[in-house]
Amino acid sequence: MSSALDFTHDPAAQSWVASAQAEGSDFPLQNLPWARFRRSRHEDWRIGVGIGTELLDLAEALRRGRWSAAEQALLDPLARGDLKALMAQPAAARRQLRQALFAALQAGSRQQAQLEACLRPQAAVEFTLPCEVGDYTDFYAGVHHATAVGKLFRPDHPLLPNYLWVPIGYHGRASSLTVSDTPIRRPWGQRKGPDDAQPVFAPSQRIDFELELGLWVAQGNALGQPIPIHEAQEHLFGVSLLNDWSARDIQPWEYQPLGPFLAKSFATTLSPWIVTWEALAPFRCALHRPADAPAPLPYLHDAADAMSGALDLHLEVDLQPQGGRAQRISQSNAKHLVWTPAQLITHHASNGCNLRPGDLLGTGTISGPQPEQAGSLLELTLGGKQALALEGGLNRRFLEDGDTLALRARAERAGAAGLGFGACSARVLPAHPVS
Ligand code: MN
Repeated sequence: MSSALDFTHDPAAQSWVASAQAEGSDFPLQNLPWARFRRSRHEDWRIGVGIGTELLDLAEALRRGRWSAAEQALLDPLARGDLKALMAQPAAARRQLRQALFAALQAGSRQQAQLEACLRPQAAVEFTLPCEVGDYTDFYAGVHHATAVGKLFRPDHPLLPNYLWVPIGYHGRASSLTVSDTPIRRPWGQRKGPDDAQPVFAPSQRIDFELELGLWVAQGNALGQPIPIHEAQEHLFGVSLLNDWSARDIQPWEYQPLGPFLAKSFATTLSPWIVTWEALAPFRCALHRPADAPAPLPYLHDAADAMSGALDLHLEVDLQPQGGRAQRISQSNAKHLVWTPAQLITHHASNGCNLRPGDLLGTGTISGPQPEQAGSLLELTLGGKQALALEGGLNRRFLEDGDTLALRARAERAGAAGLGFGACSARVLPAHPVS
């Protein structure tokens, strides 16, 4: 297990980058998240590390800094924009590079003079996805979401009999993953109301968000070779915020019998930053399953993972109508997932399916137990039946054109340096005028 704390988690450690010490900064020295960026369209993408309001440009840092041969070998692909090369490394090598970057950015570092010239203001760069995603799978591990949505259709038995035994998921579409701040286009699609004689093809009228985490796969597994649960955390590279945009009027008509399809594949937004599994070590917690949940089957059970394989992350959702102010519409926590990230990895590979570095697993919508902690409008408005009141006399059943939806997350714990994830935000554009 890679859960050990080391000097990179020392809450007293400070960076020579002043903004890293700002109260409530998402990116203190203890975080060191990865992103892929460029300063202009004439520049190649490269990998950077977030620190305060800055980004350490690893193409420049490789050239100007002083690194061991092993560190240079790890930095070289990053300087060329290839984060998958690091994802493919064993956990020990990934920890080694984290420790080297921590030391280089720590107050008093001998590297400060060289590396100061390698900082770029985050506000002045363009981000893209951290890597090309080979495969994207979306799970359904938010038990309160599954219960609330199930209740809309089956008030007496909202959870299907398989739910607490087998991690439910479907294969999503990798090509339509986009980075935060990329607007999304309202999709056209087929829908049919219960009383309609036949379906229509028209712009969706029920665009929704889903509050999720995106789990990045580190080292993969060979085809045919499962990942044992006690090794699964070594295969986790890190975590981003993920908004699984959903067209709630397309979904019910198309999803049977093979599952979600065009209601989901028009867009999925990711935050630009990957907060590493190592950075999250202080914020892991025990897995909490419902009191009546069965014990997981042996291939999904590991005592250490059950004790500390879940994540305690505070989650927030803001909605900003066009021309208006951003308003908080929900708050939740990642501890409301019914499976740990390691269990999702192990289950996915349990049939021998090969996971590859840079593959992405969505957790499923993370709703809390209270109605106001719901991770989708579907739940917040009871399927569109009850409008959600906003400031200024506005209300929403589903998202309207011009709305901006932003997800945020924060990790806080006594005795640890709190950290954040940046934002996962996008605006809804009107549908194309013709199909
Ligand atoms: Mn989803």
